[in-house]
Amino acid sequence: MKLEIPEYVSILMKELNKHGYECFVVGGAIRSILLNKPVNDYDLTTSALPEETKQVFHAYHTIDTGLKHGTVTVVSKHIPVEITTYRKDAEYKDHRHPDEVIFTRTIKEDCARRDFTINALCYCEGTGILDFFNGKKDIEKKIVRCIGDPYQRFEEDALRILRAIRFASQLNFSIDDHTSKAILDTKETLSYVSIERIQEEMNKFFAGEGCVPLLYPYRKVFSVFLKEMDSVNWEQLIQRLQNSKQDYRIRFALVLSDPAFSDVKHTLKYMKYSNKEITAISQMIKYRNAPISTKTDILYLLKDMSCDFMQYLNYREAYDLTSYEQSFHIYQSIIQNNDCYSLKQLQINGKDMIALGYTGKDISLYLNQLLNAVIEEKTANNKEKLIAYLQTIN
Ligand code: ATP
Ligand code: MG
Repeated sequence: MKLEIPEYVSILMKELNKHGYECFVVGGAIRSILLNKPVNDYDLTTSALPEETKQVFHAYHTIDTGLKHGTVTVVSKHIPVEITTYRKDAEYKDHRHPDEVIFTRTIKEDCARRDFTINALCYCEGTGILDFFNGKKDIEKKIVRCIGDPYQRFEEDALRILRAIRFASQLNFSIDDHTSKAILDTKETLSYVSIERIQEEMNKFFAGEGCVPLLYPYRKVFSVFLKEMDSVNWEQLIQRLQNSKQDYRIRFALVLSDPAFSDVKHTLKYMKYSNKEITAISQMIKYRNAPISTKTDILYLLKDMSCDFMQYLNYREAYDLTSYEQSFHIYQSIIQNNDCYSLKQLQINGKDMIALGYTGKDISLYLNQLLNAVIEEKTANNKEKLIAYLQTIN
């Protein structure tokens, strides 16, 4: 079976072969090709040691991405490609990282250290597909299954517990029974995993097509790092999630909208979200009951909110289990007409106010009143009219 590998990748493989080394495309790329899905990135695995890889590509721009772990990045036709030496993992010490990395010259050993059968397929033009662990069959059957004993694999690296669930969500696969049982039995080891890595996996999980049916069965896994998951109103939450767009911010906002979560910002900070994401998610929740049926309602919200308003409306549709088509139209016409909802758009500014004799806090106080008056269509947004209106409220 011949697979379509882009040239910037295949020239690297041929170059390694020319120097007597094996090289395969491995992992996600092969999985995606077999599923007819777009490939994110092409990871290469080789029998060459990192220093040997660098030697082969001495004429290329290379980056020592993780020499200790065997990874060299080679820039091919302006695209960076990670090339990692075949490795097998030694003992794991902290439920996350192997004590040491042992390089090997046999591809089968490299495949055996990978997490799931669907992630351990390799391909090169000469050999075709290598499938030591029946990954192809599992792709056909849409199953996420650990390579080897799932209990041992999850004990070694607890992140794999969440990776299993997120791959099932992303690919809309089910999880093999034995793997599933091990997930639930070993879930507590997730507490050894950094919250940054957990957040990364959860984002991919929530963005996945198959996320909703997985949430309830694996709720005890999520409650290892989000205790509140134990007291969520599942029936209501599932209904909302079923009506939600495939967007991790919206879906996580829906989860955090459950009264079980009493301090949303605190939870988001603990999950190490960026300030931008904390604002985006917590604002959706803060305004979850705000009226959005009239233009004035929406202008007032736009004035107060800094998050993506389309995303907010999508969130509201899922949260309220209703359609807000009219609100989408109003919002679009506001943007098209450049209707005023911010001080930036107001045709009078601080300097004008000073010229008019206002000082100190009065400046922002009256500017704000003027903005509200424009939103409520009590005055037009032009300087002359605004000044005239100012006289009436003084
Ligand atoms: P994605 O499309 O999300 O990038 P991927 O399969 O490429 O999917 P990566 O996280 O990029 O996933 O990892 C690349 C490959 O490395 C995986 O396919 C898997 O073979 C292996 N791998 C990654 N993380 C682990 C892990 N924690 N334990 C074992 N193998 C892993
Ligand atoms: Mg990848």
